[in-house]
Amino acid sequence: MSKIPFVTKEKIEEIVKSYPTPFHIYDEKGIRENAKAVKDAFAWNPGFKEYFAVKANPNPRLIQILNEYGCGCDCSSKTELMLSKAMGITGSNIMFSSNDTPAEEYAYAAELGAIINLDDITHIEFVENILGKLPETMSCRFNPGGVFKMSNGIMDNPGDSKYGFTTEQMFEGYRIMKEKGVKNFGIHSFLASNTVTNEYYPMLAKQLFELAVKLKEETGAHIRFINLSGGVGIPYLPEQTPNDIKAIGEEVRKAYEEILVPAGMGDVSIFTEMGRFMMGPYGQLVTKAIHEKHTHKEYIGVDACAVNLMRPAMYGAYHHITVLGKENEPCEFKYDVTGSLCENNDKFAIDRMLPKIEKGDYLVIHDTGAHGFSMGYNYNGKLKSAELLLKEDGSVELIRRAEKPSDYFATLDCLPVYQEFEF
Ligand SMILES: *Cc1c(COP(=O)(O)O)cnc(C)c1O
Repeated sequence: MSKIPFVTKEKIEEIVKSYPTPFHIYDEKGIRENAKAVKDAFAWNPGFKEYFAVKANPNPRLIQILNEYGCGCDCSSKTELMLSKAMGITGSNIMFSSNDTPAEEYAYAAELGAIINLDDITHIEFVENILGKLPETMSCRFNPGGVFKMSNGIMDNPGDSKYGFTTEQMFEGYRIMKEKGVKNFGIHSFLASNTVTNEYYPMLAKQLFELAVKLKEETGAHIRFINLSGGVGIPYLPEQTPNDIKAIGEEVRKAYEEILVPAGMGDVSIFTEMGRFMMGPYGQLVTKAIHEKHTHKEYIGVDACAVNLMRPAMYGAYHHITVLGKENEPCEFKYDVTGSLCENNDKFAIDRMLPKIEKGDYLVIHDTGAHGFSMGYNYNGKLKSAELLLKEDGSVELIRRAEKPSDYFATLDCLPVYQEFEF
């Protein structure tokens, strides 16, 4: 099995005349079709809302496309909140799911009317002190501890994760907030990351629905929404089967009807905060082979580096690579595909079997639409790339220009030596 890029060699040869490599390019058609599929999969729940996890891809042009399908923003920092506001996304269209949150960020979230999702029980008092009074709607992030198991084994380890309230703290927190006048409550939980199985959301939903019924019975709190957060994965490996969002939505509906409806809680809204699933497959990093090196191993040096896509260096994550124009050639050569950072982990692929690569070949690194560009940094003084949108009509729009040296030097007000350079 293979992954097929959404751009051809001919198209890239045309694009590079205006925008040199490396760049991230996004597929508008794919983003739209998927956003619609998500909306349809949860249409059974009248209050359903996807809050796109802004950290996954904070490009306003892309978030505005999602917004056409009813998506709001899941933010966790002041600048993400500012970005949402700049796009006209405010009020309950923002979920503020932060942790270790500075006071001014809570204040700003409240100013925008965002729904505040607390990460810890001590933040009840913290927020009350900042705002004077708690907002009418509050949410808490739940962490049951232990390990999160599914039929194919352990998926993740909530017991080791810094996030959320324990079970006891959920009950105590709801009681405290109810006494302080909070009227509507939400439950949020994120227990496993990049799950490539239709089981995750339904299993999480069951757990949260049961907790919701108990919280309502024991504290009398009105639960307005349950937020399944992120964690729905994508098939980075060509042999993986993609999640079926329709089937996921249907299984969540079954759990809802089995657990919430009989408890008189058929008015609860389902929220999600997917980042990866909304954008991951619809972004690709396009880079050019600029060197080949034959030493103890065979290396291909490309013009992108970990600054443009950090996941392989940081997590050893697999990102599929297609050599444009050589899609049908046999993968008979074993390469390390490297960037130029002075760090030996700056490799997009290690011992990867690929067709013979020549200098000047364009490589497509797949599935960079989420946690790709946005994780970028400026190590070695490397600049961040441009972002392009491949529109439905086949034209290309620049949706973020590449950084220039002047951007890199912009914060050095105290030492303006760089002014002697021309940018
Ligand atoms: C990262 C994050 C998400 C998105 O996760 P994905 O795996 O990209 O879907 C959602 N909510 C919160 C609070 C997060 O930190």
